[in-house]
Amino acid sequence: MSAYDRFKTVEVSTDLLIIGGGMAACGSAVEAAHWAKKNGLKVALVDKAAMDRSGAVAMGLSAINQYVGLKDGQNTVKDYVDYVRNDLMGVTREDLVANIARHVDGTVHLFEKWGLPIWKDENGGYVHEGRWQLMINGESYKVVVAEAAKNALGTDNIYERVFITEPLMDGDKCVGAVGFSVRDETFYVFKAKAVLCAMGGAVHVFKPRSSGEGLGRAWYPPWNSGSSAYFTMKAGAEMTCQEVRFIPVRFKDAYGPVGAWFLLFKSRATNAFGGEYMVERRSELEKWGPYGKVKPIPANLRNWLGMLDVMEGKGPIYMRTEEAIQKIADAYKDDPKAFKKKMKELESEAWEDFLDMTISQSILWAATNTQPEEKSSEIAAAEPYFIGSHSGASGAWVSGPEDLQSADSKGDYFWGYPNMTTVKGLFAAGDASGASSHKFSSGSHAEGRIAAKAAIAYVVDNNAEPKVDMGKVDELKKTILKPLDLFEQTKGQTTDPNINPNYIRPKMFMFRLQKIMDEYAGGVSSQFTTSKHLLQKGMELLAFLKEDSDKLGAENLHELMRCWENIHRMWQAEAHVRTILFREETRWPGYYFRADTPKLDEGNWLVFANLKVQNDEWQMMKRKIHKIF
Ligand SMILES: Cc1cc2nc3c(=O)[nH]c(=O)nc-3n(C[C@H](O)[C@H](O)[C@H](O)COP(=O)(O)OP(=O)(O)OC[C@H]3O[C@@H](n4cnc5c(N)ncnc54)[C@H](O)[C@@H]3O)c2cc1C
Repeated sequence: MSAYDRFKTVEVSTDLLIIGGGMAACGSAVEAAHWAKKNGLKVALVDKAAMDRSGAVAMGLSAINQYVGLKDGQNTVKDYVDYVRNDLMGVTREDLVANIARHVDGTVHLFEKWGLPIWKDENGGYVHEGRWQLMINGESYKVVVAEAAKNALGTDNIYERVFITEPLMDGDKCVGAVGFSVRDETFYVFKAKAVLCAMGGAVHVFKPRSSGEGLGRAWYPPWNSGSSAYFTMKAGAEMTCQEVRFIPVRFKDAYGPVGAWFLLFKSRATNAFGGEYMVERRSELEKWGPYGKVKPIPANLRNWLGMLDVMEGKGPIYMRTEEAIQKIADAYKDDPKAFKKKMKELESEAWEDFLDMTISQSILWAATNTQPEEKSSEIAAAEPYFIGSHSGASGAWVSGPEDLQSADSKGDYFWGYPNMTTVKGLFAAGDASGASSHKFSSGSHAEGRIAAKAAIAYVVDNNAEPKVDMGKVDELKKTILKPLDLFEQTKGQTTDPNINPNYIRPKMFMFRLQKIMDEYAGGVSSQFTTSKHLLQKGMELLAFLKEDSDKLGAENLHELMRCWENIHRMWQAEAHVRTILFREETRWPGYYFRADTPKLDEGNWLVFANLKVQNDEWQMMKRKIHKIF
């Protein structure tokens, strides 16, 4: 029997469908439940994993990265907008950033109310890691946030371990989504009056530094595969900042966080000769316009200075943990007992920072006999990721709030409902919405709340039953399940199930995608450098890959998910390559360098580079940047 005949179909009807179970989706769930109750509406949520530990925060975090401190007058919304604009080299939607900044503190206070331990100082104030960051005991961060979301929605309205593959459309309106269970043979059809997309960003589009059994170790946890970008693009939504990838510099090989070391311990990073690239290469910053002169120096420019050292053969680059710990403890050097106590305290903070969120980094330290108070650790630039909520900016182009528009921006940035994409009824938040970076875990939750409130308002105003073409759904079911049949029918025609002329397994497909992106779109092995000619060649190879995606084969449900994850990644890759090609300048060295257009071009390119896919045609367009603050 074919998979199409074997799989039972389950239909779910709801007013609002939230897709994803991460930070943005959990925020959406809490807010949507509140407004739905007031309006007698139904909300359902679907996650490919289990909400308690799904998404980028699954392992926990050691800091909340966005807290503005409005109540205590620590900062203003404008301060945050200025910071984000500078860090993104001038390319940001100020209305979106400000909207999140003015609501994020409330979200953090909710986290604390729900039981998240936030570090306190002797006066009862939050302990800051940096200006915007709060230290937390965050190993159960996601469990705490998910519990509140589950309580708000009720578990009957939550579908876990269901992988969403495609949007359902009624003309220019999004009316639901389809997907399949990764645990049993069930095909799901979700019909909804509004859909909120929050499926995170993408990892493993580029070849990771890790190989062999370490392959799953990347900075970005391996389970977000570009589904947000795919879903919104397939629905016909305009996308933005698809070129703005993120490259984090992290502890090498286990990708441990550096924030606490740079910000809390005030550690230096030096090259193998003891030189400090942030000091020795300062003059390089002059080349990068006004952004090289601001404080803090934009993340990509900091990366770039370190990369120049590596390219000159001055690596490895080290985080000077031993020096930083010693310097702090030195204040106690005249009191041996206090000194010993302080050293112990610092040592345990150093380990805890990893145990909270990147356990494998502590395992690597243990495996390599690294005692941070005695020995430096290597840091390195990781492979590129798509994470619009962090220091990247890729995502859908969404409407901003009306009250934060200037006379100029309103026509371009506002079309009715905050966080609605250019597709009616389709909302986006967290990594799924673009041009509003630095929202992190807390801001993504806050943005999820903003988007959910707007989505409920949309349903109240447009309360018609969704029209779903079941003939189309049937076609989708056949296409989505096809890899299972292809594998089953042809598996006997080979002596090695990994290599068969009739099908390509998802892992092999992923390797091919990663190789193209690594070599042609500026990955690790090409020192993050690319050019028009390399990108054009990459596009040619991506077209062949797309052709072969029709031959993906899956042995089981898990592999079926892997097939679709990789199709989603492939679309994210194409959007990226096309947008780097479109933007004829280098604006974010340290994220990527276009060797044929090696300079910033403020005259022509201080704009958003947007795209849209319609009837398989990709359109590229420039959109104006409006300064509001
Ligand atoms: C390594 C790392 C470290 C970070 N450190 C910090 C930090 O210290 N402090 C901080 O504040 N922020 C930090 N962040 C940022 C923070 O994790 C993100 O900003 C936040 O998680 C984004 O929320 P989101 O809801 O968009 O995505 P996520 O939280 O990643 O959630 C995505 C959800 O979508 C689901 N999903 C994916 N694909 C599908 C599909 N096809 N079908 C159904 N469901 C799907 C996933 O299962 C998941 O539930 C870090 C991020 C990373 C990757």
